Amino acid sequence: MADIEIRNLHKTYPGGTELATNDVSLHVDQGEFMVLLGPSGCGKTTLLRMVAGLDLPDQGSIRIGGRDVTYLPPQERNLSMVFQSYAVFPHRKVRANIAFGLAMKKVPKDELERKVAWAADLLQLTPYLDRYPAQLSGGQRQRVAVARAIVMDADVLLMDEPLSNLDALLRLDFRAELKKIVQHLGTTTLYVTHDQVEAMSLSDRVAVMRKGRIVQLGHPITVYEEPAEKFVGGFIGSPPMNFLDAAVSGGELRIGDQRMAAPAFLTESAHTAGAANGGMPVTMGIRAEHISLVGEGTGAGLEARVEVVEPLGHATLLTVDLEGQRLKVQVPSTVRLDPDQSVALRPDPEALRFFDPETQMGLS
Ligand code: ATP
Repeated sequence: MADIEIRNLHKTYPGGTELATNDVSLHVDQGEFMVLLGPSGCGKTTLLRMVAGLDLPDQGSIRIGGRDVTYLPPQERNLSMVFQSYAVFPHRKVRANIAFGLAMKKVPKDELERKVAWAADLLQLTPYLDRYPAQLSGGQRQRVAVARAIVMDADVLLMDEPLSNLDALLRLDFRAELKKIVQHLGTTTLYVTHDQVEAMSLSDRVAVMRKGRIVQLGHPITVYEEPAEKFVGGFIGSPPMNFLDAAVSGGELRIGDQRMAAPAFLTESAHTAGAANGGMPVTMGIRAEHISLVGEGTGAGLEARVEVVEPLGHATLLTVDLEGQRLKVQVPSTVRLDPDQSVALRPDPEALRFFDPETQMGLS
């Protein structure tokens, strides 16, 4: 086991106009499960490939366990990799597939057999050791790829979208299995995905990337609840965070013609900024599950009109129109509503987040 220290990595591909990674620094603690999360093209794979030694940075350094590996070839970094495609050899049996790296390293036969048996047991592959990959399900093939990586006793495990070829159900199953295995091994892991649910469920910490940069790094729940910028709130969560154009004035938050109490810190900044008549514009962020319905006609709550009702089983998702702005509201599945009905909404004041409409950065 070892930590990974990534410092100021810059990388541009030949012919590329933008930096694939732009001054990325990241420390992965020993034994930590770190997920790199972000939309397609944000530089996750590039970063992972540089840690793996498959690509070289233009600038910056990478240390694994304190050793500078920036320009070392992959085989001298003591790491294992699992990639998107199953990457198992079709003409070798499961046993030989798992043993591949060990055989290359000329590990003695009895040790090799012991390790293969151990990994096969951990990944529930023992009954399949004498089958060919074509005789396995997708999930089993993926487990072979993971088994092959973990037998190597590497300091660091690198995984790039290892679940992406699995169907939704298998993915869910294997996600939990993978979490159990990695927790059991305690190997330092760097894992790439664009799937925010996978990132939330697996990671000790998640690094959210955008356009070659890490825009937020933290515990998954913190990143979910306290996005550092609007982009993060809109990328993480299903449905994504709701955003409403609002203005702060005289201790109130105005959304169109409707009002609610503004948090003290915003009232102060509006005052300091000497906000003009219309108030200080802000983008208000609130998650669907943090809005509740209040009794209509009580004068409380923000008036909205239901547009769409989607029963999800465990809850019902409403799309509502609030002063011409659309938002999602999650209500208990026992609530019965029809399109066009009026509702009164109460956003949980504790769960409100605010962003600068121009820079889109979080306000606090
Ligand atoms: P995805 O989730 O789609 O795999 P990603 O976040 O892993 O995306 P990268 O593959 O790291 O993104 O790509 C980052 C940027 O670098 C993108 O703009 C991409 O087009 C570019 N890029 C990646 N590989 C190459 C290459 N071999 N040559 C030129 N440009 C590349």
